[in-house]
Amino acid sequence: MGAVFSNSTFGPREQPHAMTALAFRSALPGPIVAITANIHGDECTGTGAIHALASVLEENLLKGSVLMYPSLNPEALEDGRRDLPASGEDLNRLFPGHWNGSRAERRVRSIWQEVIHQAPAAILDLHSDSPLSIPYTIMDRPIAFRGGSRRDMELRIEALARATGLTVLWDYPDSKYRNLHLDRSLAGSAINRAAIPAITIEVGPRRHLDPAAVKTMNDAVWGVLAHMGMVKDRSRAKPAVVRAQSWYRADGPVALVGGILAPLCNPGLLLEPGMALAEIRNLDGEVMQTLRANCRCLLLGIVEKAFLKPGDCCATLGLAEQAR
Ligand SMILES: [Zn+2]
Repeated sequence: MGAVFSNSTFGPREQPHAMTALAFRSALPGPIVAITANIHGDECTGTGAIHALASVLEENLLKGSVLMYPSLNPEALEDGRRDLPASGEDLNRLFPGHWNGSRAERRVRSIWQEVIHQAPAAILDLHSDSPLSIPYTIMDRPIAFRGGSRRDMELRIEALARATGLTVLWDYPDSKYRNLHLDRSLAGSAINRAAIPAITIEVGPRRHLDPAAVKTMNDAVWGVLAHMGMVKDRSRAKPAVVRAQSWYRADGPVALVGGILAPLCNPGLLLEPGMALAEIRNLDGEVMQTLRANCRCLLLGIVEKAFLKPGDCCATLGLAEQAR
């Protein structure tokens, strides 16, 4: 038993920040899993989780290979920002990228080439939502598939997502999913262009390494590796809130006036129609608007903002997914 470790760098030659790849390969054949982090440069929990995994995988990998990418956006990590500096583009909406495209598209192409070239059996893309959110796993919509093959892909994605042990939810319904270019995210593109099951794990906070969040992320990833028979299952602390139902992602109520956002309830709560989840106040402390749920839903998280402008959405919700 035991695995061989190697590391390398990759990325467009003309770009100063190379990306790092860490690989653990067991002598026993088995699945290849790719774990990617920090494509949004201010979301660093996944980077910490990869470092934690790297310190134990050499001893613990039973079969197959684990390929890990601690930061797909290292210059944004340095700047503490989401998008690619000097470009302003969100890398996670540009897959599979383009060698002759913008700086961001060339970066994305090099990531796509590096990850897909390894023919992984699964991709886990690690992100962070707000500090006011429960940890959850997003399942992308396999919109390129039809009928039975769509159902098959959904089952493969859902099996990975459930293995994280977190609350899981499908992404926005198909038309919104497509309009937001989520099929051009890393996970969405892996599923829809390369037929590789992928999930996006969201464990907040962003912007700093939080030991408890890193542990939650690490446990979620470990759960998937154990599900695939690549590591031994281990006991893990259950996240404080796991809502086992089938949900899909939806945006919370929108601010009609600008003002201070004051949350009124904790993430993870099941909201009944009409329940207030937050209010908007002016600087006098006067309530300008009460933000209420308009149907039964799960409060996944409240946005990491102290001030909302008119039109800003205040929360991420889970709505009940209809069985197909
Ligand atoms: Zn993200």
